[in-house]
Amino acid sequence: MRPAILNPLFAEITTLPGMGPKIAALAARAAGPQVVDLLWHLPTGLVDRRFAPAIADAPEGAIVTLRVKVLEHVKPRIKRLPYKVRCADPSGEIDLIYFHAKADWLEKLLPPASERAISGRVERFRDGVQMPHPDHVVPLDQFETIATVEPTHRLTAGLSPKVLGKAIKAALARAPELAEWADRALVAQRGWPGWRAGLIAAHAPKENSETQPDALARQRLAYDELFANQVALALVRARDKRRPGRAIKGDGGLRDRVLAALPFKLTGSQTMALAEILGDMAAPGRMQRLLQGDVGSGKTVVAFLAMLNAIEAGHQAALMAPTEILARQHFETIRPLAEAAGIEVAVLTGRDKGKTKQATLDGLASGAIAAVVGTHALFEESVEFRELGLAVIDEQHRFGVHQRVAFAAKGASEDGGVDTLIMTATPIPRTLVMCAYGDMDVSKLTEKPPGRKPIKTVALPLDRMDELVERVRGLIDKGARVYWVCPLVEESELVDLAAATDRHADLAARLGADRVHLIHGKLKPAQKDAAMQAFVEGPPGVLVATTVIEVGVNVPSATVMVIEHAERFGLAQLHQLRGRVGRGADESSCVLLYAQPLGQVAKARLEILRDTEDGFRIAEEDVRLRGAGEVLGTRQSGLPAFRLADLAHHADLLEIARSDARKLLDDDATLDSPRGKAVRTLLYLFARDAAFRLARTG
Ligand code: ADP
Ligand code: MG
Repeated sequence: MRPAILNPLFAEITTLPGMGPKIAALAARAAGPQVVDLLWHLPTGLVDRRFAPAIADAPEGAIVTLRVKVLEHVKPRIKRLPYKVRCADPSGEIDLIYFHAKADWLEKLLPPASERAISGRVERFRDGVQMPHPDHVVPLDQFETIATVEPTHRLTAGLSPKVLGKAIKAALARAPELAEWADRALVAQRGWPGWRAGLIAAHAPKENSETQPDALARQRLAYDELFANQVALALVRARDKRRPGRAIKGDGGLRDRVLAALPFKLTGSQTMALAEILGDMAAPGRMQRLLQGDVGSGKTVVAFLAMLNAIEAGHQAALMAPTEILARQHFETIRPLAEAAGIEVAVLTGRDKGKTKQATLDGLASGAIAAVVGTHALFEESVEFRELGLAVIDEQHRFGVHQRVAFAAKGASEDGGVDTLIMTATPIPRTLVMCAYGDMDVSKLTEKPPGRKPIKTVALPLDRMDELVERVRGLIDKGARVYWVCPLVEESELVDLAAATDRHADLAARLGADRVHLIHGKLKPAQKDAAMQAFVEGPPGVLVATTVIEVGVNVPSATVMVIEHAERFGLAQLHQLRGRVGRGADESSCVLLYAQPLGQVAKARLEILRDTEDGFRIAEEDVRLRGAGEVLGTRQSGLPAFRLADLAHHADLLEIARSDARKLLDDDATLDSPRGKAVRTLLYLFARDAAFRLARTG
């Protein structure tokens, strides 16, 4: 239960003064729906309103605060025109310009003949001076209250800084004094303010430096957020340790058969990762391991061998993929291997219905089916296992802490925790692993399977499209299969779709309709399958796709990847897409089509891609270019969206928060000491962090 002292912070922002439903909706878009969100909505910078020139001296474009006398109101003759309030000081005149303003309101705000202090941006228009929508208008005797340094915030269109500022002030007034949860020695040593004082200071910067991540108040707040996250994850870890796991140790019989049937030998890193996994499974505790490896590094085989280990020991094993296509694809990869081992493997996705589905459910409940591959349909309540021993979650980069919450709940109902192996294709820097995955153990596949040829990567301006299409024609005539990924336009799947549909029509007209296929997220599963099948099995051709296509698709015969508007993609995403080719024995290439002019960062990104195929190096470069916090979109990675901490600047605080959290729980595992109680309050303050929710399940 949330401590009552925090309740005012978790009220809707509509309970704050000036927050009618319309304004509140805008503020919610900028900051979030609750009072606490406004507390976390820290200033991004400062506006200096202390410059107070005479009207005649006010420079074009400057923010100024003026002392004026109101002369007259000039109402618009037609509605579209602005309402003007003519004002003056001894040096000259200025027009205050208002669009869509109510006359009543303006007459009250600026009565003719009154004296006012106004602040805003000056424009010089023809021969006149004007100020569109002043930010502040107050009686002259309140000049000092507006001629100050004022914090700025991220806004949404239609939300005035003044209204937001007022709401934030009101939110701050609701912030209670809370018992100190941080280590006092740390606070003293760093010279940090307490939580409430820190909040107030962070919202009232007087210098630009006070809006920077290394300002003391900012550090304090960032630490609190990271500490809450790390305590929550440490609680999960402690709980998992308490939960008796099972020692799962197969006899190797099934694995030997599969290894003998594989057309290749495991790489050194595959062998090492597998040994680490088998070691965890054999131990009585519950495995929580992350298997990191670049696209094409061969994670699936490793995972399947781990599944066989569970099956040898009399357990069941499940592999979950983030999408239908990926689940089907894993199933197709695994089926022949399972056959070699002589076991049955089933598939279960959202699209299985009726009798087939029932047969699978029955088989899983009875134990007749030892291995299953599926989507999150496997999380459903109707799915019961006789004896689930290992769950492999292939995240690519779609699952995250959220899915793990659902899964932890399922695991918790089993006696003895289910060993969990998470596979991810995104090379994640260590700091990010720590807050997205807490204390998971990590295995890395650092080498690629042998025989892979380097992918030739070229960058080409879009105006050489015709030339490229001719080259593609030549390649498919020679038997190549080509992916053509269409740009991400804003965040709209519909617009993406239009771009892909247009490109499909265009290429079909030029290269022949039977050789150009289209796949996107809006297709029905059967249509997707048909498109994939036509691409894989039909005459060599082009698959036009939006980025919503399943990034994990494995078509070893595909050798060319064209990425249109490559400048709009992130480095990691480009790397993932490129990894779709170069999986077979043939030479592969990747064409990065870009629009000119290319920005500096975009240019750097394309250069890095041309230089290297090493995912770990690319991830590091990405951190350098964008900062750690940006490297993984939270939506994709499940990385907690920190509001106050910026991992590019606060990585040292994360380390401290982590060791503090562990120390705390070592001394007070149930959080019942006075400090423990204060920490509980902290956890509720950040209750929407996914780590916290993970800590609450089970
Ligand atoms: P990931 O899931 O890491 O992206 P996959 O497991 O899909 O990669 O493997 C990519 C391809 O490499 C598959 O076709 C797989 O059969 C093949 N492969 C895996 N391990 C090896 C190996 N040691 N040697 C050669 N090929 C391998
Ligand atoms: Mg894979």
